[in-house]
Amino acid sequence: MQNIFILPITFHLDNTELIIYPTLLKDAHELIMVDCGYPDSMPKLEHAMKKMGLSLNQLTKIVITHHDHDHMGALKEIKDRYPLVQILCSREEAPYITGQSKSLRLQQAEALQDTLPESEKEGGLMFQRFISSIQKVDSVTTVNSAEILPICGGIEILDTKGHMPGHISLYIKEQKVLIAGDALVVENGKLCMAMPQYLLNKRDAQDSIRNLQNYDIEKIICYHGGLYQSDIKNSLQEIVKSFT
Ligand SMILES: [Zn+2]
Repeated sequence: MQNIFILPITFHLDNTELIIYPTLLKDAHELIMVDCGYPDSMPKLEHAMKKMGLSLNQLTKIVITHHDHDHMGALKEIKDRYPLVQILCSREEAPYITGQSKSLRLQQAEALQDTLPESEKEGGLMFQRFISSIQKVDSVTTVNSAEILPICGGIEILDTKGHMPGHISLYIKEQKVLIAGDALVVENGKLCMAMPQYLLNKRDAQDSIRNLQNYDIEKIICYHGGLYQSDIKNSLQEIVKSFT
């Protein structure tokens, strides 16, 4: 992949090691990051970029696929340090990224709290406190579905709602690469629909995956699972078949 850089970032949550995959897109004029990790991940991003001969101070834009903590957790710290960086997201996600509206993930956790078994209630409250602590940014620039960003030969914004109502993915047409965010994940080497417990609208998520079949895709970068490039057409078909 030309001018597309995947940044594997490792985290430890309780006793589990998690790897997330923010992605960078570079051309002669811009350096764009797609999703930026958990809170406090700025040094890890910086370190991973340095290995590729890149630096956060070259960054021109950050695209946030949706407002989950693992995707926008470090946004405020990066924006504070590099104020010229422009933040892009969908219109639906904007109020949650700026804090005008209460996080949908927090609302979901609050609604589930009473249904949790006694032994999980404290964990549930901890999760709520964690989500509440995610720092918001003052302003964002919204992008529309089907809009083409004039970078890397043209990047199409795809509406991939479902995981969250304003979730977007990016399609780099020239290279037939999809940056899927959480619309798809790779689990044990297999392409799948993202974790069902985090889906805010299952039907939308299914329609989003169906719609991806209309695109000529050779590689998919999943935020959870990384690069997937084996027979995309059949892999998507398998997922869609499982809906019925
Ligand atoms: Zn995620």
